[in-house]
Amino acid sequence: MSVGVAVLGSTGSIGCSALQVLARQRDRFRVVALTAHSNAELLERQAAEWRPAYVGIVNGGKGEAGRGEGAACLVEAATRPDVRIVVNGIVGAAGLEATLAALKCGKRVALANKETLVMAGELVTQAARQGGGEVIPVDSEHSAVLQCLAGRPSGELARLILTASGGPFRNWAPERVAAASPEEALRHPTWRMGKKITVDSATLVNKALEVIEAHFLFDVTYDQVEVVVHPQSLIHAFVEFVDGSVLAQVGFPTMELPILYALTHPERVPDGGVRRFDPVAAATLTFEPVSDQSYPAYRLGRAAARSGGTAPAAFNAANEVAVELFLDGTIRFGRIAEVIDAVLAVHRPSDAGSLAEVLAADADARRIAREAACS
Ligand code: NAD
Ligand code: MG
Repeated sequence: MSVGVAVLGSTGSIGCSALQVLARQRDRFRVVALTAHSNAELLERQAAEWRPAYVGIVNGGKGEAGRGEGAACLVEAATRPDVRIVVNGIVGAAGLEATLAALKCGKRVALANKETLVMAGELVTQAARQGGGEVIPVDSEHSAVLQCLAGRPSGELARLILTASGGPFRNWAPERVAAASPEEALRHPTWRMGKKITVDSATLVNKALEVIEAHFLFDVTYDQVEVVVHPQSLIHAFVEFVDGSVLAQVGFPTMELPILYALTHPERVPDGGVRRFDPVAAATLTFEPVSDQSYPAYRLGRAAARSGGTAPAAFNAANEVAVELFLDGTIRFGRIAEVIDAVLAVHRPSDAGSLAEVLAADADARRIAREAACS
């Protein structure tokens, strides 16, 4: 009997990669639910190919029978009895409720939607414990950590080192970076992804989000999570154990491998679709420290992580607003970090133990971010 999978955000970069992986694994998995925000055309094409029992669109439904509409379709898709694994490829805070609901129903969430683990890490962890669900990371760095850990308990773990490409502005002068255009920010050197995460990779906010993600996934302190710039994106993470041994996971950059692993973990299955690794083609691997000066938003994210409570939620919300305003041409690239800074300067971290508190911090931060961006 094949395993039922729901793909949330099926029209996005992660969603499309997930369907590509699933197309090669039809004997193991079947797609039973698809959801998207507003790309009805692509969603219809996917629905015609996969014939899932459930199709949901957040925005732009036509009121057809058997089709879910509005934000509620995400939870509907994620909690269906015929779904065992939810691939959450939604971007931003909108993916939170579906993750929580799926975990409470005991499902595996293959999580790409890192923003929601950052804003509500405690709630997500708690929901998994309560309902018997599990979060398996899709993010390549965290998949690498999980693969290196190979079931060893967190007490044997000394340190995680996540790699970062450094983004398109790694060698640019600060004044030039501050004035960079959306087109320039969207030219990522090694990965093809959605717009929001591509901008996050240019500011290195993505790596700050990933540090917080690692903290909640692997039960490590922030001092145990380091980041190194590795422009070739071939090593995805290093794991250092208490005896000093270091393991790393290596591969040409593709999300299909971590997506497949999130579906099959702890097992591995044959997959002919991924480019085989070749050390000669990989040639040179280089590593450099993260320059705090070049990536002020990264520094702010690490500080929010250390503050804890609702501070990571405020950091995430401020960044979501700032990136949106940057992409629509309202603010310059250099303003993204300034907007985040303005929000964190006035945010008073409180307990992040309830959904109401997290959502209030998120809404507050968004309002302050918009004000700061306009001033
Ligand atoms: P994307 O913009 O390509 O796709 C986003 C998807 O989310 C779309 O299918 C869209 O329909 C859906 N969506 C957007 N807003 C929504 C809303 N309000 N309600 C419901 N659905 C909504 O983004 P992406 O690059 O696929 O990234 C998705 C998530 O995966 C992000 O959290 C990102 O950080 C993470 N991630 C992506 C990659 C990658 O290679 N693309 C790698 C690691 C992690
Ligand atoms: Mg990543």
